[in-house]
Amino acid sequence: MTENKEVLVQLKDVKKEFITSKTWTGKPLKVVHAVDRVNLSIYKGETIGVVGESGCGKSTLGRCILRLLNPTSGQVLYREEDITHYNKEQMRQMRRKMQLIFQDPYASLNPRMTVLELIKAPLDAFGIGSNQERIQKVREIMELVGMPENMMNRYPHEFSGGQRQRIVIARALVLDPEFVVCDEPVSALDVSVRAQVLNLIQELKKTKDLTYLFISHDLSVVKYISDRIAVMYLGRVAEIADKEELYQNPAHPYTKALLSAIPIPDVDNQMKREILTGDVPSPLNPPSGCYFHTRCKYAAERCRTECPELRDVGEGHMVACHLC
Ligand code: SF4
Repeated sequence: MTENKEVLVQLKDVKKEFITSKTWTGKPLKVVHAVDRVNLSIYKGETIGVVGESGCGKSTLGRCILRLLNPTSGQVLYREEDITHYNKEQMRQMRRKMQLIFQDPYASLNPRMTVLELIKAPLDAFGIGSNQERIQKVREIMELVGMPENMMNRYPHEFSGGQRQRIVIARALVLDPEFVVCDEPVSALDVSVRAQVLNLIQELKKTKDLTYLFISHDLSVVKYISDRIAVMYLGRVAEIADKEELYQNPAHPYTKALLSAIPIPDVDNQMKREILTGDVPSPLNPPSGCYFHTRCKYAAERCRTECPELRDVGEGHMVACHLC
């Protein structure tokens, strides 16, 4: 399915470490391995979902792609151009093409700015068009996200969570980006408005020809929105596959455990529950070999010493497990 598709974003061995304490000589003492040698191609026009338990590095990965965090090593390519070491001004220009939709619409909107000011700010920053043209652009994008024009001069506190997220989406899309990282965009919303915002994100993808990296801990949300899904565990990608393939033929023991935990209303078609024992190991001190071996019921001696590489097991279905 992925053959002959245009690669928009490519990650090569991307690693992100955070040094949390140092010795008196300045040597790192404690290092959090947030993202560990991730290789990933994101194809133009697709929505790739990234799932995993909290702390698995999915948000850090999204921020490394956008260079809001600098990768410790590895490369981030955008349209085959290595942007890993772009300077501030070069990255500023890239912001027109790459945007982020934040998780929390309450925290990401300046309460002292009106909706017009908030959405127009990116156009102002890039000096796009005259003031009148910018206001017209704000009108258009507000209409696209389902916000009436007469709300332009109101402040964020006057809106519900769903409407605020629409403002956040409008602000992210006003520059006509190609690629958007959606970081848990519905997890802070009431269940009743989640579906509306998800549908909006889907519609906008078609209307504006977008490519998404959609980060979520919620497997049902990711299943609904994604074309392909990458499962992350402790900073590494455990499995990547097309959505249907992943849900029907999960190959990695971690993916199987995650999927078996989704409640299904049809009791006859429930997957056999695979209860994960033990906690996720600390990214400060990840286990040797396969990071999942401390919780995997199939773990063998090899798993404790040798890190499994992500391998294609057929038609773009990639798995990092010695068993597959
Ligand atoms: Fe389990 Fe070994 Fe596969 Fe890791 S490599 S998931 S420990 S079987």
